[in-house]
Amino acid sequence: MLKNQPPSSSDYDAVIVGAGIAGLYLLHRLRGLGFRAKVLEAGSDVGGTWYWNRYPGARFDSESYSYGYSFSQELLDEWDWREHFAPQPETLRYLQYVADKFELRRDIQFNARVNSAHYDEQQRNWRIEAEDGTELIARYFITAIGGISEPFTPDIEGRNDFDGPSWHTARWPHEPVELGNKRVAVIGSGATAVQLITEIAKNIGHLTVFQRTANYCKPLRNSLIDDATQANIHASYPEIFKKCRESFAAFICDFDPRSAFDVSDEERRAFYEELWAEPGFAFWLGNFNDIMSDPAANETVAQFVREKIRERINDPEVAAMLTPTDHAFGTKRIPLESGYYEAYNQDNVKLIDLKATPIERITATGIQTTDAQYTFDLIIFATGFDAATGAHKRIDIRGVDNLSLCEKWSTGPRTTLGMLSVGYPNMFIVGGGPQNAAGFCNGPRCLEQNVEWVCDTIAHMRERKLTYIAATPEAEAAWVEHVDETVSATLIPETDSWFMGANIPGKKRGFLLYAGGLPTFRKKCDAVTASGYEGFILA
Ligand code: NAP
Repeated sequence: MLKNQPPSSSDYDAVIVGAGIAGLYLLHRLRGLGFRAKVLEAGSDVGGTWYWNRYPGARFDSESYSYGYSFSQELLDEWDWREHFAPQPETLRYLQYVADKFELRRDIQFNARVNSAHYDEQQRNWRIEAEDGTELIARYFITAIGGISEPFTPDIEGRNDFDGPSWHTARWPHEPVELGNKRVAVIGSGATAVQLITEIAKNIGHLTVFQRTANYCKPLRNSLIDDATQANIHASYPEIFKKCRESFAAFICDFDPRSAFDVSDEERRAFYEELWAEPGFAFWLGNFNDIMSDPAANETVAQFVREKIRERINDPEVAAMLTPTDHAFGTKRIPLESGYYEAYNQDNVKLIDLKATPIERITATGIQTTDAQYTFDLIIFATGFDAATGAHKRIDIRGVDNLSLCEKWSTGPRTTLGMLSVGYPNMFIVGGGPQNAAGFCNGPRCLEQNVEWVCDTIAHMRERKLTYIAATPEAEAAWVEHVDETVSATLIPETDSWFMGANIPGKKRGFLLYAGGLPTFRKKCDAVTASGYEGFILA
């Protein structure tokens, strides 16, 4: 319980925002340490990303068994993933199972979207308010709200004029949507659109895809997990998690130590074919170590993928539209697909190149481009997210001197370890904010690391009867510089993407993630702990 405060039903050691992967584990871990914690969740159930993103085709791009929580052997023993890359309903069921198994729901308040969190300097605590009228006071305010959770719908002229239904992929209705006789528009061609288009094209009246930028998509190669493989997975969890712990982005694959030019052209081609045949991200994150830093090395990969794309599309004009030529491979998130390109060979699927014929406006009946007026029954926005900072800016977070976090970050986000920000004492950002390894990661692996670091810090403070933690301006400046330096060594800043905040009009362009990899990130966090929290003021 809080010191200096009479105990009451609204007093918590920690209030956590979000009941997704991070929030559930935070609650479990803090409880296990004897803290009183409460989760406020905007949705009507647990799941976070996997609760909101229920569009057809949504599924993991990580191997299922590398994605589940690793903290409980019992949970690992009890849960069998059915597919190598689980679909959204299975993942949601998994997170519901976790919530039930660890009896988490009793400390989660659903349908409680947090509006504001204000720091009280005198009391050294936070007052958190939700849309449903809930007001809580807590020593620690922890956001676990996801980095890709604030949907972005572009402000296209006439957007509200459309007479039919329209929604963002992250707000897909909970009830089934019948598309068999509908004329449907999808705007966007990122990882979400690629999954969605592939799935809905299987049974649709007519589909028109509005694409601004073509992507380098790689076959996912999903399959069911048979009994023998299942047994092997269960026996191999220690090795699976060890691999994830040691690899750059916490996947079971990792970059090859060789340069693309250490081998002959024939060997390189054979290596690319080998990686192409593998499931998941191996072609990207298990490729030569210089593909993300050397433009010439990158171009060898890009050319290989372009050939693979062209081979699958019947109409050469459509193939040209779907073949990316304007950015380097991997500088935008690589979508994984299962029949995406073949969808464009169907007579009832049409692709519009928005760079050639931009959208002029949305009308009552559909979409008007510079070239034609298209009529639709439904418009789907697969237009991405205001990543890393968007969900935080939506909450009125005020720290010391009433300074709003939104205002502080308007010139670019500033954090230490992506988990604390100067001016916001006793506030932790778990995974979902900027400059944290979790942004460029096999999510749960980095989120577990974040949760454990935060909980250890809070436990450390309790042991020493401390009630205040804040990052120093020097440590924050050093972290921001380190984040910038790390990404500067890559080709990522050259491309406009959500990684760079470039997808949101008016957002300051700058790298939002951490490109140093999980092993380095972990070392940096552990070094802070080992030094007795150098770079932080504890009082
Ligand atoms: P995204 O990658 O940001 O893609 C948004 C798409 O909308 C892009 O094609 C973008 O075009 C287009 N767009 C944005 N504004 C537009 C406008 N005004 N007019 C026309 N087109 C516009 O978003 P996403 O596909 O939702 O994916 C976001 C992230 O979520 C992914 O990168 C990934 O990290 C995660 N994700 C994960 C999984 C998984 O693990 N299974 C699945 C899906 C998504 P431009 O490219 O030209 O900007």
